[in-house]
Amino acid sequence: MITSSARELRSLVASKKVSAVEITRAYLDRIRAIDPKVKAYLAVTEDAALQAARRVDEKAARGEPLGALAGVPVAIKDNMVTRDAPTTCASKILAGYRAPYEATVVERLRAADALLLGKTNLDEFAMGSSTENSAFGPTRNPWDLQRVPGGSSGGSAAAVAAGMACLALGSDTGGSIRQPASFTATVGFKPTYGRVSRYGLVAFASSLDQIGPFARDVEDAALITRVIAGKDPLDSTSVDLPPPTLKPNGRRFRLGLPREYLGEGLDPEVRDIVLAAAKKLEARGATLVDVSLPTTQYGIAAYYIVAPSEASSNLARYDGVHYGHRTKEPVDLVGLYSKSRREGFGAEVTRRIILGTFALSSGYYEAYYNRALKVRRLLKQDFDRVFERVDAVVGPTSPTPPFRLGERTADPLAMYLSDVYTVSANLAGLPGLSLNCGFTKTGLPVALQIQGKAFDDATVLEIALAVERECGKVTTWPTP
Ligand code: GLN
Repeated sequence: MITSSARELRSLVASKKVSAVEITRAYLDRIRAIDPKVKAYLAVTEDAALQAARRVDEKAARGEPLGALAGVPVAIKDNMVTRDAPTTCASKILAGYRAPYEATVVERLRAADALLLGKTNLDEFAMGSSTENSAFGPTRNPWDLQRVPGGSSGGSAAAVAAGMACLALGSDTGGSIRQPASFTATVGFKPTYGRVSRYGLVAFASSLDQIGPFARDVEDAALITRVIAGKDPLDSTSVDLPPPTLKPNGRRFRLGLPREYLGEGLDPEVRDIVLAAAKKLEARGATLVDVSLPTTQYGIAAYYIVAPSEASSNLARYDGVHYGHRTKEPVDLVGLYSKSRREGFGAEVTRRIILGTFALSSGYYEAYYNRALKVRRLLKQDFDRVFERVDAVVGPTSPTPPFRLGERTADPLAMYLSDVYTVSANLAGLPGLSLNCGFTKTGLPVALQIQGKAFDDATVLEIALAVERECGKVTTWPTP
């Protein structure tokens, strides 16, 4: 059952060939067997999942209409609030916190009869590219346990890759869905900013954050996107548009290959595999166009000003009074704030808060924050210009295959450079999708990224489907 797609699982349940309870048990067994090695989950909500499964089976028995994800096991990144488990953001500062409400995406999944299996590991507050910044220890890559699964949504990616969830949700502020999807040979989709409500997603950088899915194939990714997308009065940035539909109609696409995505810093083997995938599309009738996105070189610098600036403001609420950890030291009020925060936040989150506070402080605001916003505008203009000539832009998702645990933890800049191809979509608000297009000689996954026009999520999905057909679906479920 763990090798079935979400579409297959739903039809098995609808035709009563397999019960939702059996599916849930199969997934729970798989989690028990391999998650001690992978550590994708922070919490498994076994009882709630079985209860939800029984309700789905009862509905099926009564012949009631079933939701779009009936009987499909889904994992949730632990920075989205759910009532049936703690929400930790992989941070000590939220110790003991249980949300009194649920994220809109979670409500929509439940309404679609999905079975929520639990909450997955992440870099603390989604800050990182390897899941090593979790206060609860790293998640490992199921393809090679010595390597990272990417981040920050590494737990969700690893869970789907290893058959410990059929689908999962992640959040993507600068690549946190697409880069771990690349590292685990899963499909990861960051829809256009505004497509999916962030109500109940713990805010990192509000002008960049977007929720999206991990799936085993493109059609499943499209299916769950339709469930979670759409206007939500509780998130004023969500837009009132019908959710994107995947309707392949044999269009011949014009695909831009930005030269800035193929230069310095790109692993030669990744480059060859990604270019070979592009050539396969060309052989099938797509037109490859050499394009330029010159502002790309400033993307990382701008992102690492904008994201920490917004984070420093969003994380001000963790003061030792409202939520979670409070210092036990006898201190005055200011001491209570600073001690609680010192004790509760890990090194990377602390670094971001200091960076962001500095960039926003008077005297430096013009030099840093304002300039980063100008870069952001230029980057958007780069894409506008290129999209006059092409339907989408393709290139690598990550400059390297999955790296080893510990390889980049001592060097924040090396870690930040993992995001060189992914931050643009967030800064420009565009949809971006990552999917596997091959493996290195040593068996490590390599992915292609597709970036499309704002709200043209459907085209991105359609191109992804063509890539999947040309490069072949990943049909291995690594069992570490
Ligand atoms: N790796 C990036 C960062 O550390 C992106 C994180 C994300 O998308 N949540 O900020």
